[in-house]
Amino acid sequence: QRASTINLNAGPSPLPDAALLTAAASLLSYSETPGMGIAEISHRSPAFDHVVANANDDLRTLLEIPANYKVLWMQGGGLTQFAATVLNLSAWYRIKHQLQPSDEVEGWYAVTGSWSKKAAEEGARMGVAARKVFDGKKHGAGGKFTSIAPADEWDVPQLEEKSRRPAFVYYCDNETVDGVEFGGVDSETAFPFDKFDPAVPVVADMSSNFLSRPVDVSKYGIIYAGAQKNLGPAGVTLVIVREDLLVDLDEAVQYGGTRVPSMLSYKNMADTNSMYNTPPTFTIYVCSLVLRSLLASPPLPLPSPTSRPLAPLSSFADQKSSLVYSELDSSEGFYAGTADKAVRSRMNVTFRLKGGEALEKAFVKEASERGIKGVNGHRSVGGIRTSIYNAVTLEHVKTLVAFMREFREKHS
Ligand code: PMP
Repeated sequence: QRASTINLNAGPSPLPDAALLTAAASLLSYSETPGMGIAEISHRSPAFDHVVANANDDLRTLLEIPANYKVLWMQGGGLTQFAATVLNLSAWYRIKHQLQPSDEVEGWYAVTGSWSKKAAEEGARMGVAARKVFDGKKHGAGGKFTSIAPADEWDVPQLEEKSRRPAFVYYCDNETVDGVEFGGVDSETAFPFDKFDPAVPVVADMSSNFLSRPVDVSKYGIIYAGAQKNLGPAGVTLVIVREDLLVDLDEAVQYGGTRVPSMLSYKNMADTNSMYNTPPTFTIYVCSLVLRSLLASPPLPLPSPTSRPLAPLSSFADQKSSLVYSELDSSEGFYAGTADKAVRSRMNVTFRLKGGEALEKAFVKEASERGIKGVNGHRSVGGIRTSIYNAVTLEHVKTLVAFMREFREKHS
């Protein structure tokens, strides 16, 4: 049993107790290798093979991943994927269209927050012409990332019949810093796939809302997520990639591609079952336990036997975040949510206090004294951010909301 601290950190963030207890015991002695801990066995042993196989199976079940997609466990965090997605898809595109070395490759970015902005910058560094098809800073109130315009207002170039397409369209499903999230499957605020040529692969960064709702994987070329929010400890990044996008990066060099480190090649990773080198075995093991716990004991019952496996987590996230949003909305301006209501995040609830920065500091301090930790906004934007990932319980959120109400009464 650990202290009843309420951990609202944005990442790394809390993980389910049951998974951690098993992980702790397995560090000393793993059930399949008595006397040897899970962090002490070979990544090429049958025992570790089982870990990866189980994790992949559970992930495929939870996310309903179609058979023509590979699941890769990679290193270097989300930031490495800002580059890897571009390098792999540029190579795929150069080979597919047999480009001349001098030909440019375009990548289109929907920039809805700090992380997609950074991804577009990294894409440009990696050599694509990074074009913003939407720029939330220009659209949002006060030049900040607060909203997502309807797709009709995006700057999506109309493609001539014979003109080349971009190699990919990139977006971030949930902006962790700015608290802006696209809607889920079938929602009006979902990513506007129909605005884009279906031949262009869509890349999504789902680092901070991974496993929080059903996803139609078949609409994507690549989905990736750093583990350290809903999946497990930091150190591994999950990449789900459509098989036809896997190419030999060296082959692209004759078409103007650059040499890419072997570790960043999705094809290498797929061909070696993510064991091109030594993967972070313990981290992957903890992820496997988290996945198993999500499957075995969802936070709410499955609405019906035919419901999508992540439906309970989606309802749970709605239920928890709406408690906090109601508190903001009924606070008569004491608290002001930073994101537009239509696109506010279920995972990262960001808000300001009318009383200003001094009061925000007091909020963080008094919350901490009450055992509510990690509520300061990202250092780049300030304010307050309460991150409500899967392992945050309804009780935790109720305690947070009660604290918010008391704080308001005290300081109004
Ligand atoms: N994308 C998103 C949405 C994130 O929230 C983060 C980090 N919190 C990153 C990318 C960067 O991930 P990492 O720190 O693992 O490189």
